[in-house]
Amino acid sequence: MPRPAIDLFRKTFGTTPRSVASAPGRVNLIGEHTDYNGGPVLPIAIAERTSAAVGPGASGDENVLEVISSEYPSVVRIKWQEELPKSWSAYVAGVMRELWALEVMVPRGSARVAVASDVPIGAGLSSSAALTVSVARALSQLAANEKPLTPRQLAGVAYRAEHDQVGVGCGTMDQTIAALGQKDHALLFECASLETQQIPFRARLLLVDSGTRHDLRSSELAKRRAECDEVVRRLKVELPELVWLASWPVEWLPRLKRALPEPLRSRAVHVVGETARARFAAQLLKQRKLKQFGQLLYESHESCRRLYECSSPELDTIVAAAKRAGALGARLTGAGWGGAAIVLVNKTDRRTIPAIERAFQRAYGRTPAISEVHASAGVRTERL
Ligand code: ADP
Ligand code: MG
Repeated sequence: MPRPAIDLFRKTFGTTPRSVASAPGRVNLIGEHTDYNGGPVLPIAIAERTSAAVGPGASGDENVLEVISSEYPSVVRIKWQEELPKSWSAYVAGVMRELWALEVMVPRGSARVAVASDVPIGAGLSSSAALTVSVARALSQLAANEKPLTPRQLAGVAYRAEHDQVGVGCGTMDQTIAALGQKDHALLFECASLETQQIPFRARLLLVDSGTRHDLRSSELAKRRAECDEVVRRLKVELPELVWLASWPVEWLPRLKRALPEPLRSRAVHVVGETARARFAAQLLKQRKLKQFGQLLYESHESCRRLYECSSPELDTIVAAAKRAGALGARLTGAGWGGAAIVLVNKTDRRTIPAIERAFQRAYGRTPAISEVHASAGVRTERL
């Protein structure tokens, strides 16, 4: 897997890299739109990974990054302490800045970085965190500090690189799972307290790409975030110590409903309900109650569709077809408004995939891409 990054490094810079690391994309099982509301998420790291091969900068270079990606195959030269470029290379420069803030510094502040990936970009599988986490590990090793950064520290570096430096309004889920993921496990991650728990997950999971990338995604997401802020502002009258919407007690839903007008009421009910569902779902997984777990996936989708209004007709078609075919559970994943759905099926299930393909074909005249995803390992150092 790291081969293409190493080869790209050699071809581009005419020398051998000094350190190579890789980090995975992710799929969130449940806990949708809970992250920025301080609630839990339950992602798995997937088998698709991004690899970063790095080496010292050219002799004479001071504080210069030279970067290349198989996705954008021409070398970009960045003075990373100055203004950040608008291109993808800003993510690498952002990582460099955050490492520097921790006094993790490569010699002369200069490095060459070659990136190769099989995580599709912008498909809701978090290619950006796979990029920043793999680069953070590879560069921190080049810096050769006495104490290597822990996966948690790498997640912090990657998050601040994307959020504070590049300026993406992301939560901390993507970088955390890219760093802490484990094979055959999901990660219960509490986004307010940052507590994590590894939960065994060996079920058969399908990823169905609806093939639509709605433009409204970012504008609708910004609107929802603003609505949630407004909800918290209003609920503070009822509960002054409320900081995160997700910490509103689920037993107090009637009181919440009385306090809020629509559409704020629906948004808030989704977040509070989804918070309870995600925590319960993790418990069910631990107890190997896959059927009940799957039921919660359907409920989560319904709540996303009706209350948070973040689904799409294509995603609804996929989930409905999966349910009719007898799948254990299904829901949109990765914010919604297009993108992908996950479908939980029995190991022996042969009906669900053709049923989804048929229903989708009938409605949209094409078949969606369907693949199996497996819970895989988080960031790791690769051998040269
Ligand atoms: P995603 O859901 O895939 O994380 P984002 O919009 O958050 O979507 O991040 C995608 C951006 O991350 C790309 O536009 C690019 O700037 C950067 N990126 C991700 N993977 C790579 C890669 N392999 N090579 C170069 N840039 C990448
Ligand atoms: Mg991203």
